[in-house]
Amino acid sequence: MPGPVSQSHAGPGEEAPYVPPWCYKNGPKMCPCGHHEGYHNDRGECLLSRECRCAGLPGDCYTADCDL
Ligand SMILES: [Zn+2]
Ligand SMILES: [Zn+2]
Repeated sequence: MPGPVSQSHAGPGEEAPYVPPWCYKNGPKMCPCGHHEGYHNDRGECLLSRECRCAGLPGDCYTADCDL
């Protein structure tokens, strides 16, 4: 049995997504980079791309504003 994992590095330095997951009616779609679409700007660039090396949010991983 693994012990509880402590949530380290959750301080004020954390980057918050542009759109939090609860804003998506059906939940955010996941980008291959490991971050959900809320982390990506209008051009599909990931907010944390320098860490995850996101190549861009694929078109089919994007929820239209009307579905929010
Ligand atoms: Zn991405
Ligand atoms: Zn990413």
